[in-house]
Amino acid sequence: MLTDKFGRQITDLRVSVTDRCNFRCIYCRASEPENYQPPEHLLSWPELERLCGILGRLGLRKIRVTGGEPLVRPGVEEFIARLAALGLYDDIAITTNGYTLAEKAPTLKAAGLNRVNVSLDSLRPERFDRITRTRGALKRVLAGIEAAQAGGLDPVKVNAVIVRGFNDDEISDFARFARHRGLVMRFIEFMPLDADHIWDRTRVVPAAEMRRGLEAAGLPLEELPRHYASETALRYRFADGGPGEIGLVAPVSEPFCGKCSRIRLTADGKIRTCLFSQFDHDLRGLLRAGAPESEVTAEVERIVEMKEDGHHINDPDFVPPNRTMVFIGG
Ligand code: SF4
Repeated sequence: MLTDKFGRQITDLRVSVTDRCNFRCIYCRASEPENYQPPEHLLSWPELERLCGILGRLGLRKIRVTGGEPLVRPGVEEFIARLAALGLYDDIAITTNGYTLAEKAPTLKAAGLNRVNVSLDSLRPERFDRITRTRGALKRVLAGIEAAQAGGLDPVKVNAVIVRGFNDDEISDFARFARHRGLVMRFIEFMPLDADHIWDRTRVVPAAEMRRGLEAAGLPLEELPRHYASETALRYRFADGGPGEIGLVAPVSEPFCGKCSRIRLTADGKIRTCLFSQFDHDLRGLLRAGAPESEVTAEVERIVEMKEDGHHINDPDFVPPNRTMVFIGG
């Protein structure tokens, strides 16, 4: 089992398969075009598969495929099938903006995908366009969520990043949407990972405030136990027993770093030991130099030893990470 110097077991891998995305969300991407990596810098599917195999044999058990937007990279369904064929991961999930999910849900499920998180930051078409800097995409995302549920992906979770002054007035609408569809609705506090640096503390809506807002809107909640210690969301069901579930992800107001079990692999072959790391650790060079598995394994163990204790967002001398969200993946 891979363990860091704080005794945290590392069991969860987030693997970014692209730095590209067909949306340009305000809490993630820059308003100006970004410096994408040239394609040859990105790991090929066989390289990604090899690294996921090595990390799986090191004890990582849950894998989440992310981006950018993972569904824009051709071949992602085959990649999921190859991950499943490794027989190392108990849980294969994906985080997507849902734009092409309606078409791809059946093939992803057939390939071995277990569950999906779909980003949805507004239920109002014009506001959705403003937040994602797209046009008319909401309908497709809602159709994607429906197709994922109908296609047997389970659970289907919907992620909304709540930004004060942008969409915090929709929290109870989202909760009713989750009740109506029997979904897991996760509200995520806004984090300083955005390329345009609009993040400041006044734009963060703390999880406790979101919960009070739901209670005030006539949607009282009852706490549920976490599925596992390092789960990022505080889980709730509706007190009246209604369908659906609410998750509050509070990295800013109630950090959960003490139980962190995650590392990330970026699309260009770097290990990030924390979402807020100041630097990356390259594995692509080792891979392309033909290093044997034992050498890659030793390097990963050395890297995990350096995993940060936490994000320090609430420290006065906090420094944002060296990469923005689109180049890290959720
Ligand atoms: S901020 Fe870093 S240490 Fe904290 S939970 Fe996220 S990845 Fe883990």
